[in-house]
Amino acid sequence: MTTELMSQPTGASSAIADRVARVRAGFASGITRPLEWRRRQLDAVERMLREHHDELEQAIFADLGKPPVEGYMTELGPVLTEIGIMRKHLAKWTRRRKVPFIPFLWSKGFIQREPLGTVLIIAPWNYPVDLLFMPAVGAIAAGDAVVLKPSELAPATSAVLAELVPRYLDPRAIAVVEGGVPETTELLAMKWDHVFYTGNGVVGRIVMEAASKHLTPVTLELGGKSPVWVDPSANLEDTANWLTWGKFLNTGQTCVAPDYVMTTPEVQPRLIAALTAEIERFYGADPRRSPDYGRIVNRRHTDRLAGLIAGADVALGGEVEPEERYVAPTILRDVAATDPVMQQEIFGPVLPIVPVAGVDEAIEQVNAGDKPLAMYVFSEADAPVEAFLERTSSGSVAINASMIQLGVDSLPFGGVGASGMGSYHGEKTIEIFSHNRSVLRKAKGPNFVKLTEPPYTPKVVKRL
Ligand code: NAD
Repeated sequence: MTTELMSQPTGASSAIADRVARVRAGFASGITRPLEWRRRQLDAVERMLREHHDELEQAIFADLGKPPVEGYMTELGPVLTEIGIMRKHLAKWTRRRKVPFIPFLWSKGFIQREPLGTVLIIAPWNYPVDLLFMPAVGAIAAGDAVVLKPSELAPATSAVLAELVPRYLDPRAIAVVEGGVPETTELLAMKWDHVFYTGNGVVGRIVMEAASKHLTPVTLELGGKSPVWVDPSANLEDTANWLTWGKFLNTGQTCVAPDYVMTTPEVQPRLIAALTAEIERFYGADPRRSPDYGRIVNRRHTDRLAGLIAGADVALGGEVEPEERYVAPTILRDVAATDPVMQQEIFGPVLPIVPVAGVDEAIEQVNAGDKPLAMYVFSEADAPVEAFLERTSSGSVAINASMIQLGVDSLPFGGVGASGMGSYHGEKTIEIFSHNRSVLRKAKGPNFVKLTEPPYTPKVVKRL
């Protein structure tokens, strides 16, 4: 059982240390181990989300202008589904797994999936409920004690969760710590049994460095530029439908949103026409007035996006209302790999189209950058799909679809290289938050030691 000391509290912030110490003591007392406790906590998360569904959706709306339907579809709904999956498979995913009898040692063996201890989950602002509770649900199912750190950039959601969690979940083993950089820095200085971080790569490096001081394992769910290839063989109507949905949902502030599109110069105008029609179908002639189109999280990101649009060849949209944090659904045409919009993750409703000669050039361009979190290939022909699968790397790929790969619990969700390390959802989350302990039990019968113990007579040597 883990009973390591944490770093000592420093004056004003000792409230955080006290809260973490309580949760750690809760784990040490063994309360989180019985499956019954885990089930009760999963039920309580479900009750909390259902009973405060309106309050949470309003908080998400206040933070992100996210339409309530989107709030349910992309935040509460997926967590409720994950809870159902965890509950259904809890016994199977946490039970001891026998290995075949080991005849030469005359022993039995099994793998015991045991909880790691007290874990820290740090979430970003863009899906402030989903990205906190998707990992938390797995950590609870694995039998860990959990400290949740919501993002200070989604303050309304953070405040609601800080109020609700202690009312619904067992405060002896589950706690919320609100705050920004100073509070997270204090948390990261402590010794954890696992740190699960979702957010940008700069902070990902800070998290990993802090964790390394205690040899704490980390999961880093990061971002980056997720490319799209639209092959000349693609069905452009369907492609435009998937791209419009994937790019403009949550106003493009999604880690796996299609970041930019590569296609041939011949396809570019037809794709722009198809995208324009889809955007108007989704959000009307003036998306600013649409109740189904969100806003940018804050002024800083709005100004950043305005900077990326300025000077580019705008095929559609381009309007920015900084006071309202509004950025229109925007398509940029004839974008070059060297343009500013191609130098950072866009994380907003701006879709650049980069004309390339064909699949080979597109693959070359992908491979010149960091390994992406997601990749999208739209093609009716198999060869381009195979070329991307065999000659590039990314956290995930969706073919003729966007973003839905992360809604499938049997498909691990995570990045590779600069887009992250470790993957989760479904049983994978339980794996992250557990240790696979190997256990060997000697069976009654022949004794290996007796046969091979010293003195090493010729008879012993012959037995080897
Ligand atoms: P953010 O600013 O909310 O930061 C994430 C968390 O890190 C917050 O809880 C914040 O308090 C903490 N933090 C910020 N600065 C810190 C510091 N200096 N030290 C310690 N902790 C600190 O969110 P963000 O990083 O802007 O999120 C957007 C990024 O996250 C994008 O790159 C996006 O692609 C990525 N993302 C990835 C996933 C995924 O699942 N892979 C999901 C969502 C977002």
